[in-house]
Amino acid sequence: MTPDHRDTRAIHVGQDPEQAFGAVSVPIYQNSTFAQSDVAEPKVWDYGRSGNPTRDAFERALASLEGGERCFAFASGMAAETTLLLTLRPGDHVVLADDVYGGTYRLLTRVLGPWGLELTTCDLADADALADAIRPQTRYVWVETPSNPLLKVVDIEAVAALAHASGAQVVVDNTFASPALQQPLALGADVVVHSVTKYIGGHSDLIGGAVITSDPGLIEAVGFLVNAVGAVPGPMDAFLALRGLRTLGVRMRRHSETAAAIAAFLVDHAMVNQVYYPGLPDHPGHAIAAGQMAAFGGMVSFLVDSADEASRIARGTRLFVLAESLGGVESLIELPGPMTHASVSGSDLEVPAELVRLSVGLEHPGDLIADLEQAFG
Ligand code: PLP
Repeated sequence: MTPDHRDTRAIHVGQDPEQAFGAVSVPIYQNSTFAQSDVAEPKVWDYGRSGNPTRDAFERALASLEGGERCFAFASGMAAETTLLLTLRPGDHVVLADDVYGGTYRLLTRVLGPWGLELTTCDLADADALADAIRPQTRYVWVETPSNPLLKVVDIEAVAALAHASGAQVVVDNTFASPALQQPLALGADVVVHSVTKYIGGHSDLIGGAVITSDPGLIEAVGFLVNAVGAVPGPMDAFLALRGLRTLGVRMRRHSETAAAIAAFLVDHAMVNQVYYPGLPDHPGHAIAAGQMAAFGGMVSFLVDSADEASRIARGTRLFVLAESLGGVESLIELPGPMTHASVSGSDLEVPAELVRLSVGLEHPGDLIADLEQAFG
């Protein structure tokens, strides 16, 4: 029987005590191949690229949290995205949200563009703009919500209704919310992608990715590509990803509470011109976020007067570590313009140079606010 609640499923689905010795956590099956008892028998496990029991346990647990039939784990978020996009053919068209992780834009423009994939970027909050962007060749509408780094919120149900009416499918990058806070498949999306590196791993100690779907055609196509392309995670990373997933719910609630306190502090600060956090009542996507998310997540971005000021603050914190990435137990600070989003510089997706992005960790909120206070000076 599958438990009703995600917190329970994260700890039990795919994770029955191991049969040989009764280990209560899933072992790391650190092997590349599996002994066969005959040449022609039907095999559950044969070769580590096609499948591995540690990876399988992680995939089952994450599929259950996202409410999908099947999850495929990958060696990175980019490996997951690339493999999913290889289900398309030259001449196919993708509509991409106009605020996304820079690496997603770089993959679509610089890797898959020359290979023949067509791309339109679009403000997915604008239904007319989306209707204009969709063409007969559009296969995927690619959503990131909340988005990186401007925390834009997209109404998944509304985008899915529009896309489906034109025969396109909806991909949601659920990295920022994680399945603890948002389940895009239940809102009508066809596929969820993750950078498992972030909240799911949760401890800044692995690189991983995932694709989750219930669409039988996509399960078959992505399942084939997993083995044919081979961008899979090793057993140790799958183990770490599963260990992170087990505490996802409790971490996301605490990340969200502390981020809300930090957003409130920033709103009141004289040196801050604008705060981007979906939990703020005046955030343009607040009502949609309140409807489709259980809490508002741990990412906060804000604008100051100049790029120099942003850089001074980012270099001045003592607890917030100046680093790319997000979603770990420790708080991070970065400047998206020259750092995570350098690959969108000069494009429609360019982000302001005065923007500072925080990944709010699990430290005490009082210590984090004191750290920001001293860095503002
Ligand atoms: N999607 C989002 C929203 C991200 O922030 C990132 C990385 O920062 C990725 C995808 C890519 O994931 P990875 O770095 O695991 O390849």
